[in-house]
Amino acid sequence: MGANESFTSSADIGHFIGGRRVAGASGRSQPVTNPATGAVARRVALAAPAEVDAAVAAAKAAQPAWADTPPLRRARVMQAFLNLLNRERDTLAAMITAEHGKVFSDAQGEVTRGIDIVEFACGIPQLLKGDYTDQVSTGIDNWTMRQPLGVVAGITPFNFPVMVPMWMYPVAIACGNAFILKPSERDPSPSIFMAELLEEAGLPKGIFSVVQGDKVAVDALLANPDVKALSFVGSTPIARYIYETGARHGKRVQALGGAKNHMVVMPDANLEQAVDALIGAAYGSAGERCMAISVAVLVGDIADRIVPLLAERATKLIVKNGMESDAEMGPLVTLDAKTRVESYIASGVADGATLAADGRGLAVAGHEKGFFTGGTLFDHVTPEMKIYKEEIFGPVLSCVRVPDFESALKLVNAHEFGNGVACFTSDGNVAREFARRVEIGMVGINVPIPVPMAWHGFGGWKSSMFGDTHAYGEEGVRFYTRQKSVMQRWPSSTPKGAEFTMPTSK
Ligand code: NAD
Repeated sequence: MGANESFTSSADIGHFIGGRRVAGASGRSQPVTNPATGAVARRVALAAPAEVDAAVAAAKAAQPAWADTPPLRRARVMQAFLNLLNRERDTLAAMITAEHGKVFSDAQGEVTRGIDIVEFACGIPQLLKGDYTDQVSTGIDNWTMRQPLGVVAGITPFNFPVMVPMWMYPVAIACGNAFILKPSERDPSPSIFMAELLEEAGLPKGIFSVVQGDKVAVDALLANPDVKALSFVGSTPIARYIYETGARHGKRVQALGGAKNHMVVMPDANLEQAVDALIGAAYGSAGERCMAISVAVLVGDIADRIVPLLAERATKLIVKNGMESDAEMGPLVTLDAKTRVESYIASGVADGATLAADGRGLAVAGHEKGFFTGGTLFDHVTPEMKIYKEEIFGPVLSCVRVPDFESALKLVNAHEFGNGVACFTSDGNVAREFARRVEIGMVGINVPIPVPMAWHGFGGWKSSMFGDTHAYGEEGVRFYTRQKSVMQRWPSSTPKGAEFTMPTSK
């Protein structure tokens, strides 16, 4: 119960280094709020560079023995961790709701999608199996194996405090690396709880560490030569910074950024299904998902039929504290986030979009200080408007009207971001053409939020991702390992003398 006790207390949340909790020593901390009430629940420490370096040193000392541990035994630790996660699923979900604000059932879904990756990592012996070619030349064999990188780090966003770290560390650790997590400072509690569960599962000390913090901690990770690879998920400007700075320091980097996901609705789409999909994907988690749909591209005459239905549903959303069982949408994460989202709504109005549902000024009884903004719908949005171009990251859906399929495809492909996209249609050929020609990393056909399953890997295109290896799945295994090729020949098979020509198969 150690983690639960600290979760409900008002004590500072510190770090987890060398297999134990460590209090912050920098003298810097910041408040963590409950977004539903607006109250400060606890404070999180912000690490100084020396604290980050201490975590890296502990990880570096522990990693060689872990890398030497047979993959099957590493997998067994993952299996024990999986069992503990299943036991603590609801504890983790409640922690998410308390600091992020998303509704409890959605938080449970987040935990489940994270657990999927742990299940995938349990198969690490099979995933690390190398290639072998007998007799590449007479008496010579060649094989490849994948070896861990050493100490690797992950820097994660506020919107999935459990799932996004789990996109990274189960795979990294199962591959034989030591992992350092720098979670979001806005919802840090699950990070420490996960560290304690890993400890309980039998993970050696130092293989999973947590350093809380902000840019100072991130820059210390970027500068530390013993951190061999960085995985980042967050907004595009920071993703670009991490990618460029990490590369300059000679690190391997995957940096996943922001998004503006479109859903194209063809005139032949099933209207009821399209409305349900748009409402869930635009307003679920208050729009604070990198795969949220924030633009509905309405093709031809479907616009006049669908907009009134969307406006009615957006206005009737049940918005309240995410711990209440009938809540459909909770608050935004912070007061700053609410202020930012509402300033985008004002900008849409000023730019001439039609405000069909206005979520500003929403009062939630008993939660007057919570950071709530209701479901907001704009119609007649055009590509020049700020609300179309930029990521709002809130419960705001913009409808853009286009005449035909080709205009819809052109619009989607011209956007700066390329994370996710969906097309709703009942025409198989339209669906096929869309999937083949759209310049977006993850595509849904009549599926609004096509987050790939654990063994397929996750990643966007264009300004939604920097680096070439996607998160988790086999791409994740490649990211957290490097290939070594070995050629062998035994003396008795080679009676020849010195060879001065390029070796070829003989
Ligand atoms: P953010 O970029 O503000 O923060 C992400 C991480 O970077 C945090 O750990 C934060 O502490 C750190 N950070 C913030 N400013 C920094 C700076 N100047 N220098 C170094 N590090 C810094 O993102 P957020 O607000 O926590 O999360 C929301 C964003 O994440 C949205 O843009 C969303 O689209 C994106 N996101 C993308 C994906 C994806 O898979 N592409 C998934 C989830 C979230």
